Amino acid sequence: MEFRLNELQKIVRDTAREIATKEVSKYVEEIERTRSVPEALMETIAAAGILGIPFAEYLGGVDAGYIAMSCAYEEIAKVCPSVSVSLLVCVSFLESVKNYGTEEQIEKFVPDGIRGKFRGSLAFTEPGTGSDPKQIITTAKKEGDYYVINGTKRFITNAVYNGPILLFARDSETQNITAFVFDKLGEGYSTSTPWDVVGMRGSAIYDVFLDNVRVHKSCILGKPGEGFPILLGTVAHSKVALCATFVGTMAASYELAVKYAKEKMHRDKPISKFPSVQLKIAQIAAKLESARLLTLKLSEESDDRSNIERVKAWVGMVKAYVSDISVETNMLAMNVLGAYGVTEEYKVESFLRDSLIAPHIEGVSDLQRVIAGSYILSGADALV
Ligand SMILES: Cc1cc2nc3c(=O)[nH]c(=O)nc-3n(C[C@H](O)[C@H](O)[C@H](O)COP(=O)(O)OP(=O)(O)OC[C@H]3O[C@@H](n4cnc5c(N)ncnc54)[C@H](O)[C@@H]3O)c2cc1C
Repeated sequence: MEFRLNELQKIVRDTAREIATKEVSKYVEEIERTRSVPEALMETIAAAGILGIPFAEYLGGVDAGYIAMSCAYEEIAKVCPSVSVSLLVCVSFLESVKNYGTEEQIEKFVPDGIRGKFRGSLAFTEPGTGSDPKQIITTAKKEGDYYVINGTKRFITNAVYNGPILLFARDSETQNITAFVFDKLGEGYSTSTPWDVVGMRGSAIYDVFLDNVRVHKSCILGKPGEGFPILLGTVAHSKVALCATFVGTMAASYELAVKYAKEKMHRDKPISKFPSVQLKIAQIAAKLESARLLTLKLSEESDDRSNIERVKAWVGMVKAYVSDISVETNMLAMNVLGAYGVTEEYKVESFLRDSLIAPHIEGVSDLQRVIAGSYILSGADALV
């Protein structure tokens, strides 16, 4: 691994940084208050090419790979982690269609998705299962050339926006999990009010109710009954992006803590002169760098498709590690600010609340470690 970004990766990172500081920053308060990312901001982000970073140029993408994508998520999350989560779900949807879709499906969704014409969703979680999606019970009953889908999906990001959903259901023929892509907001599709959550409030989550939703067999991604590997591949991409997002929360809190330590005076000297504060800043810096480096390494592994087993082992392991470090780091930053750290004015509390989502999304951390450990022990080359 090179420790320096190449020219294209730098351009992508700098573009994302500019968009984040000049555009995303204007909307942060509105996003958190209204629990939604405004259309105008999504258009600006799409116009800057952010949604197309990992995709080939012939599809309208930038072809800059996962490392560049992770840099972009980190920059955006430093300003508003909710925007990063909303975006990463859009990109993960497109990535799945690109990897597992037919020519027609790729042509239908990917170029428009990169242009920000819609916001995709992914739906595997149900009231009875999240980390263990083999237990999915949403049904897809085959009727001629159509499938009739019934069930409830839980905690779905981007569920209320116009666009397609990649939904996993158990089909009546194979009794296995099948991946369907169809338009949200059609007949039989409805949503709950948003869930009240501790953080990431701007990328609100909803229950999705499927009441006799009729989809044509051409809406299947891959083959009937072969949806489970698609689900694993899809969440593998979004876990990389989530790691980068939570690195962004750490980087933001780190900068806020350093600034505060230099400005806050005690007996005519800044608190940055106290060893107790220096110690915390050094701990935060080390944790931030370790999480960032692991995320970039994971991104590099994800770009190299030659050893998919290693990526599978890495992804859960790194996601669990970065999640824990993210909470610890944001907490340490809050400590640097003393009581000001818990006030809304000083912003660290908001990044800490966002980081609390990390160990509980896309499979809880304990299970991620169990899965990673079992891959390693079954011979996957996870540590080099
Ligand atoms: C902000 C946010 C956004 C989200 N967006 C989406 C989305 O867009 N689409 C989507 O589908 N989902 C989404 N989710 C859902 C999320 O991915 C799941 O909630 C998550 O995977 C955890 O599942 P769970 O809540 O069912 O917890 P569980 O998996 O039930 O875990 C609960 C506890 O049980 C333990 N446990 C569970 N199973 C086992 C087992 N087999 N062996 C041992 N221990 C076990 C776990 O360690 C954990 O402590 C989102 C969630 C949040 C908070």
